Amino acid sequence: MKKIVLIIMVFLGVAACKTNPFTGQKVLNFYPNSQIFPTAFAQYDEFLGENKVITGTEDAKMITKTGQRIAAAAERWLTANGYPGYLKDYKWEYNLVNDETVNAWCMPGGKIVFYTGILPICNGETGVAVVMGHEVAHALADHGAQRMSAGTLQQLGAVAGNVVIQDEQKRNIFNQAYGIGSQVGVMLPFSRSHETEADRIGLQIMAIAGYNPDEAAELWKRMQANSGGGAPPEFLSTHPSNETRIANLTEWAPLARQEAAKFGVTSFQ
Ligand SMILES: [Zn+2]
Repeated sequence: MKKIVLIIMVFLGVAACKTNPFTGQKVLNFYPNSQIFPTAFAQYDEFLGENKVITGTEDAKMITKTGQRIAAAAERWLTANGYPGYLKDYKWEYNLVNDETVNAWCMPGGKIVFYTGILPICNGETGVAVVMGHEVAHALADHGAQRMSAGTLQQLGAVAGNVVIQDEQKRNIFNQAYGIGSQVGVMLPFSRSHETEADRIGLQIMAIAGYNPDEAAELWKRMQANSGGGAPPEFLSTHPSNETRIANLTEWAPLARQEAAKFGVTSFQ
């Protein structure tokens, strides 16, 4: 029985690789959008129903406007690089929630939440674009689906041979992958490599959207100052160390400008 499970796991692993358009690397992901997005959309609506969504204010409008620019930039990049239609199942939504937690997240399919607590660190639209680019990048690169796939393999190992993933199980795996259940909407931190990847992709997208990529490192310096000595804010918890991240972002900013130039974007706000 163990052997069969192993064979199935290897099969899933081989058969279920998907290419990440941004890195060109094959990654383990056997959850198509059609299987994940409906769950994500439902969870998102549930979260919005249980939290105080701010609408109509300047801040709320800024979140929406920045999100739309970032999404449009992602679409341009994907189309130009041979992935037209990559975003066809996405249903972008950008909401500001009244909560002092220093956090923001994007669920699969483009469902974004900013907490008011992160706005002082963003310090304006360009800072919002840094965070938005990063969160959207997690969604574009299917980091959640990859985590679900890894979680499923673990479960397959655990239940020995029960390979038919029922809806109930799928929901549980989704919830585990997103840290939903114990606290709705508090996303589990991504792995360090996923964080670094989201930083790089996010920087590129923000530059194409016309936002100054030099501001990314500045945002993380503010984040570092904000965490000053005490426990790091949630947004940081297992993210790469601030020093590494700031060094990376500083090094990659000129590359992001070059990428933006390919799209005719040469001035940045
Ligand atoms: Zn992240």
